[in-house]
Amino acid sequence: MKEVKPDSNRFLCIICKEDKNIEENTIEHVFPEAIGGALTISNVCRTCNSWLGSDVDSYLTNNFLFQAECQDLKLALKNGKIPNILKKGSLETDQDRTVYYTMDEEGNPKDLYVTPKITKEYTKNGDLRISASVDFKDKEKLAEMINKTFEREGFSKIDPDTILQNMTIIKEKPIMKIHPSRIKVPKNISYSKEEIIIDTLRYKLSIAKIAYELSYYWLGSKFLDDETGNQIRLSLLEKNISVNTLKQFQTSGIIEYIGESPSIDIWKHLDDAYIGVMVRLSGFIFIYIKLLNVIEGLILVSKQSFNYKNYEDKIVIIDPRNRTHQENILRAELEVLGNREEIFQQLILNIGNLIKKTSSER
Ligand SMILES: [Zn+2]
Repeated sequence: MKEVKPDSNRFLCIICKEDKNIEENTIEHVFPEAIGGALTISNVCRTCNSWLGSDVDSYLTNNFLFQAECQDLKLALKNGKIPNILKKGSLETDQDRTVYYTMDEEGNPKDLYVTPKITKEYTKNGDLRISASVDFKDKEKLAEMINKTFEREGFSKIDPDTILQNMTIIKEKPIMKIHPSRIKVPKNISYSKEEIIIDTLRYKLSIAKIAYELSYYWLGSKFLDDETGNQIRLSLLEKNISVNTLKQFQTSGIIEYIGESPSIDIWKHLDDAYIGVMVRLSGFIFIYIKLLNVIEGLILVSKQSFNYKNYEDKIVIIDPRNRTHQENILRAELEVLGNREEIFQQLILNIGNLIKKTSSER
């Protein structure tokens, strides 16, 4: 580690570990700001902050399963909008006709809109046949659309009433396609826009980032000298990530999508919150993270808990809807849930099972 002179104009960036000018110091959101993460730290330089945003956090904020859950929970993300994974579809009888699904600000279904379609055809004797199909809400525009085409082709207009009298109303069910709003695709991979990509790799780094920053937040600058933490830090800076990136940096833990139920089910009821827990187990320090009931992870952040004086197990609960967070001593928080010691033992048992799962996978 570089020696940093006690100069108030300089600071050590906790990500690149370079000595930087204080003007480069930024506010870093431990849980991405784009998903309502309300907990912030400093001492991340501008360059690293922007790297973390574009190449680490984005794999979580744009994660398809995460967005789908936010839509279900009607949870507005950074732009104040609830993700809409069903925004585009087509008509059952005409796959080329786009149908849009919109929601109101509260995330309730607002509108289905079928895009207009007009076709023209000349008959053998030179007559022009036009058929137009519009969304029922646009029926007033039907005559205008048809007459514009006639005019453009050099024919005279038709009485709008005649057009409306000849109109048929068809009821049709649209086929809505699941459509992730914004997905970052690794270079060299081509994909069609309609394809759903369930990221099984890159979102893990964004969870590892939360674990690293939470550890720094709670353990202080001493954590920057921790070799286990340092490996997580290096994995965050890796440019070419692969299935093995976290393993390659000897990061131990398990980060997974939650299926039916989280492995640690104590906080299962907090299904619209983010949770970060720091817990010590026989000299090791783990960070447990749960985001909604979509993703959970248990990451080993230190093998030297004895290095941290005044160590205490901690918990932070983030409410992304109101962008607030509350922090507590873990055992004090467990008291809210019932018998503190019983629940703590259950937690340790759950963690033990997760660790076993991890070691059998490695
Ligand atoms: Zn940096």
